[in-house]
Amino acid sequence: MQDKISQLRMLTVAPQSLFIGGAWREPVSGGAMDVISPIDGKKLTTIGDAGAEDVDLAVKAARAAFERASWSKAAPAERKKVMLRIAELIERDALELAVLGVRDNGTEITMALKAEPGSAAATFRYYAEAVDKVYGEIAPTSETVLGLIHREPIGVIAAIVPWNFPMMIGAWKVAPALAAGNSVVLKPAEGASLTLLKLAALCAEAGLPEGVLNVVTGRGAVTGEAIGLHGDIDVLAFTGSGGVGRRLLEYSARSNLKRVYLELGGKSPNIIFADAPDLDLAAKVSAYGIFRNSGQVCVAGSRLLVERSIHEQFTAKVVAIATQIKVGDPLLLATEAGAISSEIQLEKDIGFAGQALAEGATLRAGGARILQETGGFYMQPTVFDVTPEMTLAKEEVFGPILSVIPFDNEEEALRIANSTAYGLASAVWTANLSRAHRMMRGIKAGIVHVNTYGGADNTVPLGGVRQSGNGHDKSLHAMDKYHNLKTGWIQL
Ligand code: NAD
Repeated sequence: MQDKISQLRMLTVAPQSLFIGGAWREPVSGGAMDVISPIDGKKLTTIGDAGAEDVDLAVKAARAAFERASWSKAAPAERKKVMLRIAELIERDALELAVLGVRDNGTEITMALKAEPGSAAATFRYYAEAVDKVYGEIAPTSETVLGLIHREPIGVIAAIVPWNFPMMIGAWKVAPALAAGNSVVLKPAEGASLTLLKLAALCAEAGLPEGVLNVVTGRGAVTGEAIGLHGDIDVLAFTGSGGVGRRLLEYSARSNLKRVYLELGGKSPNIIFADAPDLDLAAKVSAYGIFRNSGQVCVAGSRLLVERSIHEQFTAKVVAIATQIKVGDPLLLATEAGAISSEIQLEKDIGFAGQALAEGATLRAGGARILQETGGFYMQPTVFDVTPEMTLAKEEVFGPILSVIPFDNEEEALRIANSTAYGLASAVWTANLSRAHRMMRGIKAGIVHVNTYGGADNTVPLGGVRQSGNGHDKSLHAMDKYHNLKTGWIQL
């Protein structure tokens, strides 16, 4: 496979345009943006820099497709067929898509293959199979009436997604929205648009009617803002940072009160009790749970809470793994952690490390930029001993930095775990079943792993509480975001 990857990485990537109403179109302004590969800092290609006019054209195309009803009112079995075909086409082109995505955002290829085309195909298949299995309801009314609860597609859904896993997160929104019969306008992140443009082409090849999926690339503050403020978008589904999430709520308030669903950041606690069944396994999973994709994972276990009696011993194990993780060229199969997505993000990460030192945190591993000679953006897996008050114990870095915090007992572990503004993911490592359940009830988070970290599939929801967001991606629950409920009340 390495040979094939090496061939694919040499391919020239043509300049990209926007996908609107089933056709490729240049932005009205003619604007384009450079795509810089984080692997070597070199220009890979250009993408369209869509303005408000382009967003308007995409929304009009989406609305027209919805009204035409060739998708929104197609028989569920028909929609299912097309969506299953989309999954097959993603799988057909999986390696090409994965390599293209890695050249764009720097994720190591082993993870990209699994998490990007692999997971996107699985997501399309999951919702394809759900299309004709999600029913309306008959309400438990008195004998004299019949109460019907219909599920209807809503109309035009906009999805704005981040750069860390564009295909996976894009599919988490596009697939259930399409399954429910809606039209979609998708805006990828500036640093990861290429695979989602390819997805648009695959959807067209699979027979998705024109205008049902539109992809507009461009800057958040321009293209994204135009989406947020558009008066004919019914739902805005977002994954990204809390700061942008706040803006989207404002845009909604200033425009048409579109529903806004937010999947935001986290500072997820990974809690190791001294009675964890296998401390070596816990150390390995914990290290990879933060350092894969160089920490650019929303659910990354970025706070390691360790019971004091094993704190030194356990931290030493994690540090030993961190210093051995192979960071480098993300297109080599042996690489375990790829590039940081952009120079700006790298500088931000290095800045966090500097601030931690200034606040008195103890550096246990890493802390520096590496492989500068490649021209790319790489950072060592970094471990700090911190106290709960320090910035690094509270703020999301979204990079390869792990904060280790000791605790004395279950109560204190819970208090520290819940001491940030976030509530996305978490984990508890213990052999004590009652403690695992107590912690699961007590931790404020959308997911609590027990004796593992990550790996949850499409059957379960992913969503945050508190400032990690509202709503859920994945599972049948995600379809609730893309359906209106309509009541029929019939006097008998
Ligand atoms: P970001 O918020 O900077 O950007 C996300 C998207 O929003 C991009 O497409 C961007 O172009 C767009 N955007 C930026 N400014 C905008 C504006 N003013 N109006 C409208 N759109 C705008 O986030 P990012 O740096 O791409 O991604 C990292 C963040 O995403 C982290 O906080 C991470 O935790 C979060 N994330 C969360 C999840 C989850 O499921 N909860 C998953 C992955 C990433």
